[in-house]
Amino acid sequence: MKQALYHIIDTKADLLTSLSDKIWDYAELSLLEYKSTAAYVQILREEGFTVEENLCGIPTAFSGSFGSGSPRIGILGEYDALSGLSQKAGATEYSPLTEGGCGQGCGHNLLGAASLGAAIAIKEAIAAGQLSGTVIFYGCPGEEGCAGKTFMARDGLFRDLDAALTWHPGDTNEVTVGTNAACIQMAYSFQGRAAHAAGNPWTGRSALDAAELMNIGVQFLREHMPPKSSIHYSISDTGGLSPNVVQPTAGLIYMVRSANVRAAKALLERVNNIAKGAAQMTDTTVSWRQIDGTSDTLSNTVLEALLYKNLQEAPLPVYTEEEVAYAAALKATFPESRLPGDLTEDNPQVKQFVLEKTQGGTRPLNDFVMPYVSASPFSPGSTDVGDVSWLTPTAQFNAVTIPSGTPGHSWQTVSCGRTGIAHKGMLYAAKVLAASVSELMTDEALLAKARAEFTVTAAQGYDCPIPPDLIAAPQ
Ligand SMILES: [Zn+2]
Repeated sequence: MKQALYHIIDTKADLLTSLSDKIWDYAELSLLEYKSTAAYVQILREEGFTVEENLCGIPTAFSGSFGSGSPRIGILGEYDALSGLSQKAGATEYSPLTEGGCGQGCGHNLLGAASLGAAIAIKEAIAAGQLSGTVIFYGCPGEEGCAGKTFMARDGLFRDLDAALTWHPGDTNEVTVGTNAACIQMAYSFQGRAAHAAGNPWTGRSALDAAELMNIGVQFLREHMPPKSSIHYSISDTGGLSPNVVQPTAGLIYMVRSANVRAAKALLERVNNIAKGAAQMTDTTVSWRQIDGTSDTLSNTVLEALLYKNLQEAPLPVYTEEEVAYAAALKATFPESRLPGDLTEDNPQVKQFVLEKTQGGTRPLNDFVMPYVSASPFSPGSTDVGDVSWLTPTAQFNAVTIPSGTPGHSWQTVSCGRTGIAHKGMLYAAKVLAASVSELMTDEALLAKARAEFTVTAAQGYDCPIPPDLIAAPQ
């Protein structure tokens, strides 16, 4: 069965690679992925999937399903890019394609293509009568800066799935374990009154002063936050460039992170109070609107073990001498990095394994599978896969698409995203996903075990981090 799935993916390699390269070329920002969506929808239709577009009122959210009845297995795909990361493919020095343009700095061109490849392989097996059930590919927009999956989760998607799987491009072949912070993103806007800064400042009310006081207030809050919390900000509006004007407007964007959604909401309340206080101190007014939110991730060890098994079984990419030389040249462009792997520094056995496999961390490509350790590390970052994980048993893994130690959201990641290294990693990920879905479709006991674990971990129920009326909007 698995060999047949691998074979289908190999026969679709050109289709998937050219899709991935196209999405790399488009490099469309969060919620503006119109061309990318059209490319996916066209392939899904040609492959015989039933396509639903405009999911949850988001023009770049869509799904393609094939088959009928249970089990219903979802595969998540992403395709959005990042601003300021335009970069020539395959170059080993910083060299933008378009000055100030966008780039696939998180490898989402590969993420979506591999997930689609897995869905196509499962579809073929269902069509041939080798598997039964329903496979659903979810086109999830705006992972960067909008949390598209949270909007889809709030509006009832994913809940009817028996399981959901996904992956992320990275520098290791590794099952993702543990959890991460919940995050709420808010935009604050202060309104004051303009005046001549020297002539009649007493009639002015400075919104910029209010923004500064809010930042100072939050600075004092940081010492008194619960563990695993963090707060980040940017200034979106300074009210103008002239110091001789009392600035009438100012804007800030805040990200409030904590261990779970409940804690993040409580911390946000305190940030809102500081905003109110800053407005009162300056005799200005403040308003705010939520941008998005993501939940902490529930892990599912049954699905993690399944992914680990299939990471080991699927044929690992073999790199050419040119690819290794390119990876080494790229690796030389970033500072000394830590050893690869999420658990390496915390687990002496894993560290020993990695030291041997990487020759002390010197090898440019991690062409092996990291050991799976059932552990619950906490990652301070956030992902909207977390919201899916509260609605159905969910698991994810990383596959190698970049040289060891490559920083995320970097020009190096963009450079590598259209090379043979990336394409091989994408096809490998498609095989791991397809093989795992096939097991879930044929092993009822496995699915029941995953569900039993989920029933315990998700017992509290999904506390959606965004309000019911929030609309997903590009920033
Ligand atoms: Zn990403």
